[in-house]
Amino acid sequence: MLLQKRIVLDPGHGGKDFGAFYDSLKESELTLELGLNTERKLKILGDSNIYLTRRTGVFLTLTERVQIANQLKADIFISLHFNSFSQSFAKGIEAYADLDRVNKRIVDNSKDLAIDILNCVQSNLNLHKYEEPERGFKASHFQVIRYTQMPAVLFEGPFLSSPTDRLLLLQPNFIEVLGGGIANGIHQFFHKDIIS
Ligand SMILES: [Zn+2]
Repeated sequence: MLLQKRIVLDPGHGGKDFGAFYDSLKESELTLELGLNTERKLKILGDSNIYLTRRTGVFLTLTERVQIANQLKADIFISLHFNSFSQSFAKGIEAYADLDRVNKRIVDNSKDLAIDILNCVQSNLNLHKYEEPERGFKASHFQVIRYTQMPAVLFEGPFLSSPTDRLLLLQPNFIEVLGGGIANGIHQFFHKDIIS
């Protein structure tokens, strides 16, 4: 249990903004499903202070997403996305943090959180016999991980543009396994934080 830790999950895109899409797969729907699954797994682990920036197919601006997290004074913020690329060979998962923020502690914690999430998602996928190669940690200045006033990560799930990743995304319990990995990563992050 993470006691009173306030966790904000941000399902990317929504409403008029589908994000990436391929046939029946829409990024905006997958991110919502992932957010709800991550929340469910966190609740199973005993957490109750979980907030989603959206719970339906509504459109939110990036500024609104940042404001929600800041007004809630969240302990951590995780934006959820699925990847796509102009070429079909790109596959795997990524997590981003902004390493150029002024607050060094937020930078370090954001990077730690990103890596904990990647490691736990990877081991959850392996455990469930999904052979999903990790792409890993990357630095970026995405608005939602730059202006949130707490450790913040942008997670990119598998590529909608990759035929092999699409097969995973179409598996019935794949998003649940992904959400379980993210929830475990959040727990790993806070438990380390408490010990240190
Ligand atoms: Zn996206």
